Amino acid sequence: MANHSDLQKVAAALQEAGRLLLLAHVSPDGDSLGSLLALRYVLLRHGKQVEVYVEGGVPDRYRFLPGAETVIASPGQLSELPATVVVLDCGEWERVGLQAERFAGLPVVNIDHHRTSKGLGIVNYLDSSAAATGLLLFRLFAYWQEDLDPALATCLYTAIAGDTGFFRYSNTTAEVHQVTAKLLAAGAEQALVYENLEARSWSHLKALGLVLERLASFALGKGAYSYLTAADLGRFGISVADADGFVNYPRLLMGVQVAAFLIEVEADTYKVSLRSREPVDVSAVAALLGGGGHARAAGCTIKGNIEQCMRQLEAAIHEVSNVKCCMGS
Ligand code: AMP
Ligand code: MN
Ligand code: MN
Repeated sequence: MANHSDLQKVAAALQEAGRLLLLAHVSPDGDSLGSLLALRYVLLRHGKQVEVYVEGGVPDRYRFLPGAETVIASPGQLSELPATVVVLDCGEWERVGLQAERFAGLPVVNIDHHRTSKGLGIVNYLDSSAAATGLLLFRLFAYWQEDLDPALATCLYTAIAGDTGFFRYSNTTAEVHQVTAKLLAAGAEQALVYENLEARSWSHLKALGLVLERLASFALGKGAYSYLTAADLGRFGISVADADGFVNYPRLLMGVQVAAFLIEVEADTYKVSLRSREPVDVSAVAALLGGGGHARAAGCTIKGNIEQCMRQLEAAIHEVSNVKCCMGS
């Protein structure tokens, strides 16, 4: 999918730019934040003016990342209109926040690995076979013959560890391990990353109790799901960002092909996290419901109460995989 000429074009566009605004998706994760801060770090070395904007700011567990304190969280703090906009780890303007469509007329560079991305930019470097956007940036920095130092290596390590579940998911390729070996040799602070990314709050673990209690099957036992309502979030005092990772529990069940976790982000509006085993392609399921992602991990936001959302989800899974679906428990 990606070829070397795309990488060269992206490299040239970044080199020509003077003032850049770096953006990624809302509900930021290790890959988006690690990638944003890695690219910022290298562009600063190249003498560029760089701003990084993250809707809602950097979640606590990522504050250790070098440069996290420079991230702009409110649109009012952005300086004048940027000359070049870089969108990382995201392929849709709606997922950037910030009413970012207004940047669509500017020179836009898009670097992403989501299967559903079509390229937002004038130049795009897209590779859905890459485990993380951080891996694409590693290739870019190798092309520039950039020196790795502990700060840069820690950002890239966070990006790759985040999207591979610390090197456990099926996207953990030989390239992932080869690149990671170089990052560790350059001083990536692996233990620091693990401690921060895996740390959970009291309220997260208490809410997990309810998530496990509510585990139920669907799609004739081929799927498992759980959910939290807005009232549950209020009761446990957790944010949507704090609920990150709950989808991994239905995913753990042996024999389950599709795992879903639904969280009510607004009244009767659920953010859905999907995980799968072969052959189910959840990026196609999510795309049918207006979202996107990867074959084994995808997401979308749908309207309705939990039963209505599950019906929509089952219908989409049925359409994509021809698994006959019905609600069960
Ligand atoms: P999550 O379940 O939030 O960890 O997301 C799993 C994967 O799906 C990530 O790679 C996300 O970037 C992607 N994803 C989640 N929600 C959406 C959405 N609404 N549109 C496109 N991609 C999404
Ligand atoms: Mn991401
Ligand atoms: Mn990613």
